[in-house]
Amino acid sequence: MDRCYSIAIDGPSGAGKSTVAKAAARELNFVYLDTGAIYRTVAWHITMLGIGPKDTDHVPMLLDDCNIAIEFLEDGQHMILNGKDITGEIRTPEIASCASQVAAQPAVREFLLDLQRDLAKTHNIIMDGRDIGTVVLPDASLKIYLTASPEARAKRRYDEYVAKGQETTFAEVLEDQKKRDYDDSHRKIAPLKKAADAVEVDTTEMGLQESVDTVIALIREKLAL
Ligand code: C5P
Repeated sequence: MDRCYSIAIDGPSGAGKSTVAKAAARELNFVYLDTGAIYRTVAWHITMLGIGPKDTDHVPMLLDDCNIAIEFLEDGQHMILNGKDITGEIRTPEIASCASQVAAQPAVREFLLDLQRDLAKTHNIIMDGRDIGTVVLPDASLKIYLTASPEARAKRRYDEYVAKGQETTFAEVLEDQKKRDYDDSHRKIAPLKKAADAVEVDTTEMGLQESVDTVIALIREKLAL
């Protein structure tokens, strides 16, 4: 392949990024990379070692022993940490919150940068995250900023947790999300923000299929696929 296509999809938690990106990647035969899962993997690593996400003395040291491999299997992206598949373990509210805090550490972001960029060099890829269009892939073929109202986003996350049998309330999810939105968009390094050249898609009033169709249409139009 001469040059790979890369699509950056950024936006706040619960905007539907991963579902939309996954469906678009399947339709267009691109690889889908969920970068949030990589930050969650680091969060899992430090949590298992009993270190807090704001500990700037110990977290950078622990990165030396944090060997992350990503496998793209039939049922989606698997996260392998030091040889162990932890894909199922990282989908909890606690790990989400820890990921958001540890992601503010410059050493962590630096550590994960090449991993993300290397994948984009060798695959036609759709990546979702917070800083893909602004930092990781500033030259992406297309940048999309996917967003929705805070209530619509919290409702989607809440439904996801309930479907998985995790105990929580809508108010808790909304509160947690507000905190993460604030932290993600106010951190000093690589804050969540719309890239100047990103196309904004607001999914508040859209069903899932409509969001997917809108994003696929944008990609097809831009790449002339
Ligand atoms: O997308 P997800 O909710 O799995 O991400 C977990 C956390 O990881 C986010 O709240 C965000 O703080 C962080 N993250 C990030 N940069 C990315 C992806 C995720 O800082 N590219």
